[in-house]
Amino acid sequence: MRSRGSLRFFVAAVVALGAPALVTLLHFTTLHAAVPGLLYIVAIVLATIVGGRNAGLVAVAASVFPFFHYFTTRYDRGNANAEGITATLVFILAALFVSEVLRRESLARERAEEAVAASAIALDSASRLQTAADALATARTPQEVLDAVLSEGVRAAEARSGLIATLSDDGEWLDVIAQRGYNPDSIAPYQRFSLAGNFPLSEAVRTGEGVFLSSGKEQDERYPELVGGMQPRHALVCLPLVGHAGPIGGLVFSFASDQEFTPERRALKLALARQAGLALERSLIAEKEEKLRERISFLDASTALLASSLDIDEMLGWLTSLAVPELADWCAISVVSEAGLIESLAVAHQDPERRRWAEETQRRSIPVHIDDDFDLTARVIRTGEPIFLREVPQELLDEAAERDPETAHALEEISIRSAITVPLSSRSQNLGALTLVAEEREFDDDDFELAQQLSARAAIALENARLYSETERRADAALALAYVGDGVVLLDEAGRVRFWNAAAAAITGIRSEDAAGRAAEEVLPSWAELARIAELADAASPSRARSVTLPLETADGDRWVSVTGVAFDEGVVYALRDVTDERALERARSDFVATASHELRTPLAAVYGSARTLRRSDIELPPDQRDRFLEIIESETERLTAIVSQILLAGQLEEGRVDLATAATDLRGLAESVLDSTRVRAPAEVELKLDPGDDSTVALADEDKLRQVLVNLLDNAVKYSPDGGEVAVELGSAPGLVTLTVRDSGLGIPPGEQDRIFEKFYRLDPALTRGVGGSGLGLYISRELVSRMGGRMSVRSRPGEGAAFTVELPAA
Ligand code: ADP
Repeated sequence: MRSRGSLRFFVAAVVALGAPALVTLLHFTTLHAAVPGLLYIVAIVLATIVGGRNAGLVAVAASVFPFFHYFTTRYDRGNANAEGITATLVFILAALFVSEVLRRESLARERAEEAVAASAIALDSASRLQTAADALATARTPQEVLDAVLSEGVRAAEARSGLIATLSDDGEWLDVIAQRGYNPDSIAPYQRFSLAGNFPLSEAVRTGEGVFLSSGKEQDERYPELVGGMQPRHALVCLPLVGHAGPIGGLVFSFASDQEFTPERRALKLALARQAGLALERSLIAEKEEKLRERISFLDASTALLASSLDIDEMLGWLTSLAVPELADWCAISVVSEAGLIESLAVAHQDPERRRWAEETQRRSIPVHIDDDFDLTARVIRTGEPIFLREVPQELLDEAAERDPETAHALEEISIRSAITVPLSSRSQNLGALTLVAEEREFDDDDFELAQQLSARAAIALENARLYSETERRADAALALAYVGDGVVLLDEAGRVRFWNAAAAAITGIRSEDAAGRAAEEVLPSWAELARIAELADAASPSRARSVTLPLETADGDRWVSVTGVAFDEGVVYALRDVTDERALERARSDFVATASHELRTPLAAVYGSARTLRRSDIELPPDQRDRFLEIIESETERLTAIVSQILLAGQLEEGRVDLATAATDLRGLAESVLDSTRVRAPAEVELKLDPGDDSTVALADEDKLRQVLVNLLDNAVKYSPDGGEVAVELGSAPGLVTLTVRDSGLGIPPGEQDRIFEKFYRLDPALTRGVGGSGLGLYISRELVSRMGGRMSVRSRPGEGAAFTVELPAA
């Protein structure tokens, strides 16, 4: 600029002085004054055109004297005549006038040119701003905002590269969120820098004004922190980005050369930054909204998924797969065991290999107790307060590695950059904790918030699943109690019935609904005796409860009950077992011992007596008496054998050691032969006969065993007809069956006893049988044998009118 100005000055000076000098040379010609005068004026005009008013005046000054001296006084050099002076004056005035006219004209032209240039610049600025505004209006991400500013708005300014940084939530940091044109390595140290630091962008955002640095040198002087940073460095512009509510970040332009920032350029860039600020704010809001929408749909999906199962394991699987990889690289769920140890229930990673490895590592790790001060999971479960480590401190990892070699080993394999641990808390307690780990990125506040919301939903779902399984468990327990064969009675502290199960109702004959809420003694008066005798065990060792057997008076008569009781905080629970039958069996057994002894002793006594008499030498027995004694010995020995073989057979039947071989057996032949042998033994008052029926009487049976059954039935019929009468064997048939009935007209059997006479050792009261002896085994053995042949045995009887025992067998 300066060199061009001095050239113009030089040319103007040459013209202003040289042109009049050239005209003066006309003095050596014969020309008259008019022509040189006009040429002088031309020289002055020329000088004015080239050099402006001053050059014109210099040319005037340089022309006046030669004109006057050489031309107006040409022929009269010694005298200044009037004409010469007048001509000179006219000449001066004309020259001045012409030069002034020209000066004004050139000034006006210059102004016009300047005005045109200024409006062109303004138009250019306006159009660039407009282009940028258009591009910014459609920018939806910070990167698009940056691109719009760089590619459109700054095109003419030759910015080489640019970046956008936003203010962190706490307002203390500037985070680079978009960049273009920088070498990633050189920009890496500036990803995040302090707003309070001495950096040009920090200053621009702090002050709200642009920082314009024309050269690398200026940068180094004003910001020594940048020395040695990005290379090479030239002009740099840092501008604040301001949204509706205040500063939101900053914009940086880097240039490939040094620049001069005229006020116009500065203004343009600031205007651009204002638009970019609003666009950035809009894009950030849009991004936030998008993120929010994504999160809401993520949470919706997770709620739906978690609510769709009540299986805890399945739910934990879903929960971890929801979190990985959407939220984090790793996700783990831990709970506290009953022993107070932290147990990992699930761990997830996108790569199944890595997950298996993590599970294996966790299994080998030293167990952590809930009271552990160092362990973060333990702390979170204990306090219910979440922990957010945006940047996990290296010291923490080092200490963890020091405490457990397994952890140290694991930490060599994975990197932990950022971590969040949130409690899984239900209304009543902290169930466990959910831990999220990011390997590369840093979690932000939104992630933390999302993790908390996810854990809140997961905790509700887990609690529901827990309640459900608890309810199921209780329902199962209630079911077990309802159907258990033992009576279960729960009394509260005041002795009132809180639970009375179906078996208790069956044993006592009192319905649950009649017992509930009433005092046990009131429900069942003999309960007082029961409560007095029962020995109560402690709740801590319920299996130690000793049972006590006692009679209980019930509406259905006396029942023998074995009782165990366990006392606990809220009352006593009794278990009642009806042992009436067992007791009856015991009784029958001891009765049998007595009866069998009696039954055995009678024939033995007869045998013994006969034998001794036969051996006497002091008296001579007549032969018929001798035979009589020998007969007694024979028949009583038979009776003894029969009793003993009955006892043996009953034992074998019980142990399942009796083999049967069924074959087609004609019942008619069998009945005739058994009747014949019975007739021999039977008293004369008893009349034995056979009613063979019309149909086929061939059954599928074991002939020997069936004979035994028939002998027993006929013996009983004769035995229990002490007054004599008819005893008949009737044969008959039904579809697929052959029946054999032994009917007598003897003592009969009371209806309440008709089932029981088939039990082992069971005998009717001797008063009902007129003291007839027996073992109580005959009917038991008979029914067992018949059922093993695939048949059935039943009785119909009316006391005093006799009895009819029917054997049904499959037809052959
Ligand atoms: P026992 O050796 O006592 O006869 P059983 O088992 O044959 O044993 O019979 C059981 C009980 O059934 C007998 O004690 C008797 O009271 C009753 N009983 C059996 N048969 C008859 C019958 N025909 N008439 C009346 N009572 C009978």
